Amino acid sequence: CAMAGRRRAENPALPSLLDDEKLSEWLQVNGFKESHIASIYRGLFRAVQQHFGEERAGGREEIQQEGALPPWEAISSLLGSKQLPRGLLELLPHAFSRGHLSLVDRLDSSDGVTTKLVFQLHDGHRVETVIMNHDSRTTVCVSSQVGCAMGCKFCATGTMGIIGNLTAAEVTEQVAYASAIELSRGRSPPRNVVFMGMGEAETG
Ligand code: SF4
Repeated sequence: CAMAGRRRAENPALPSLLDDEKLSEWLQVNGFKESHIASIYRGLFRAVQQHFGEERAGGREEIQQEGALPPWEAISSLLGSKQLPRGLLELLPHAFSRGHLSLVDRLDSSDGVTTKLVFQLHDGHRVETVIMNHDSRTTVCVSSQVGCAMGCKFCATGTMGIIGNLTAAEVTEQVAYASAIELSRGRSPPRNVVFMGMGEAETG
């Protein structure tokens, strides 16, 4: 959306591991090669696939309680196999969090085609993500902002006004959740990502 949102409050917690700018900065400040970032994200994706990739009895509850990224032990062991420096693997969990979104609600349609997720952000606002499974192709529709500046009278989001934009890491984490959920029910992770049409009533 082209509408510039107000700045939301900074999250006081450790930065998200999905925040590539913070990760790149941290690697440089701590004397690690910035090029490790590609191995870290490849390892992270493998860790999500391995951890949630087989139908898991506790998958649904675990994702609700623990988030979309596997525990640090699973992440570290995958990253270790990528031959990242030992010091980096030891420091990472003390410098980053495994995400910032809390999954507060999940609604699965009775035909299994659509799943709606409601997330609470660190500043108390809520956003939605929708997973759509059509012809074995899964698409995830992510939110990019809280509220909407357009103010269409018929729309609940519009009555909020624009609160602010999500960070890139908050958008990426919605995709990570959708991947964990799809994998935990024996499906492939989403291959398409689209953005909710907030602020684009004329095109949406
Ligand atoms: S543009 Fe879309 S999200 Fe924004 S107020 Fe209008 S209908 Fe709601």
